Amino acid sequence: MIEAQKGTRDILPGEIARWQLVEAQARATFELYGFREIRTPIFESTELFSRTIGEATDIVSKEMYTFLDRKGRSLTLRPENTAPVARAVIEHQMHRGAGLQRLYYIGPMFRYERPQKGRARQFHQIGVEVFGSEHPAVDAETLEMLMAFLESLGIAGAELAVNSVGCPVCRPAYREALLAYLRPHRDSLCEDCRRRLAENPLRCFDCKVPADQETMSAAPPITESLCAACRDHFARLVALLEALAIRHRIEPRLVRGLDYYRRTSFEVTVPGLGSQNALLGGGRYDGLIRDLGGPDVPGFGFAVGEERLVLSLPAAAAAAEGAPDIYMAAIGEEGVARALVVGRWLRRTGKRIVLEPQPDKSLRAQMRRAHDLGAAFVLIIGESEVREGSVTIRRMADGTQERVAAQRVEGRLREMAGA
Ligand code: AMP
Repeated sequence: MIEAQKGTRDILPGEIARWQLVEAQARATFELYGFREIRTPIFESTELFSRTIGEATDIVSKEMYTFLDRKGRSLTLRPENTAPVARAVIEHQMHRGAGLQRLYYIGPMFRYERPQKGRARQFHQIGVEVFGSEHPAVDAETLEMLMAFLESLGIAGAELAVNSVGCPVCRPAYREALLAYLRPHRDSLCEDCRRRLAENPLRCFDCKVPADQETMSAAPPITESLCAACRDHFARLVALLEALAIRHRIEPRLVRGLDYYRRTSFEVTVPGLGSQNALLGGGRYDGLIRDLGGPDVPGFGFAVGEERLVLSLPAAAAAAEGAPDIYMAAIGEEGVARALVVGRWLRRTGKRIVLEPQPDKSLRAQMRRAHDLGAAFVLIIGESEVREGSVTIRRMADGTQERVAAQRVEGRLREMAGA
């Protein structure tokens, strides 16, 4: 038997209501703030990711699904969508228009990671990007939108942690300060972190080895090394968050792993996700568009893990979705043909109707099926109904049943539903 690949899974009809709920809520919320959807390809040139995310990151060094196509081009299934969206913005010159570009996306991402609860190889992200302003009010408003989105879904216990990771002016000095702290600990660090020391010591903050995490918890915080401009930007952001009454915690050691981050960096965690408790992450990436060969256009964004979002939804959310209003129980070929006609009419009035042509199946068996599907009504069309041009309506809640002329079905259904 051929099965789904490790780290991938089918999202089945029984759980789809929760996915549709978070996606509909994302669209509704983001559009209130002027965001519009963008859909970019699933695969891109490998260089797009290696140049922007950084060769030394886990994503680029170990986690990408990279392959050569038939013409020998190196392609990669997107591991994240900020670089693809930035590429699209440049390619279509969207940054040329007046004002800001606010974009959102929903779709699958791919990383070759060890699967566990809340971590998959094909996973889904809901993300937003804002291009064209470095004003901290963009950060604050987008964070306010994010928290409103989570609240609208009833996600409980979401905690927002924010930090500033500086800019190319202040980061070199911080890097030196961090190296000075880490050098004496070098021999106790894991192999990956020793490599990070040479390539980019800030990455050590992302290490998942407990002993290394302890070492990093005593490292000098980047907030002490920020240049005046970055310090000012961060202070203004924090003041705006306070003015908006957005609960947050300043987390001086929150240094996210991707190369293109500048200044604002943040994360939201929720309880109950286990070790993978980060629901989302984001930040400011003022250098990204320029790194990709575009002009100096600042950016800000976040990406929510949709699997983790769905896992964090309250149990009652979207529970009873999907049951039909009406099950058509037709007996005999003529009954099936009549059911098609009646079904067409009723669907035009917005009724959800299930018709399973099984003319030889007993009425009793069809009733059982209607019950299993959770249908509110069954319309029975047997031999005598065909002869009379009538339909029998059965209300499943109490078994009330009556036969009506076909043209009266709609009105009678409405009366019986209201009764
Ligand atoms: P990142 O793009 O690494 O900043 O991740 C943003 C969010 O995407 C994380 O907080 C997770 O919720 C989600 N995420 C990242 N990697 C995975 C994965 N392998 N499986 C499931 N969710 C993921």
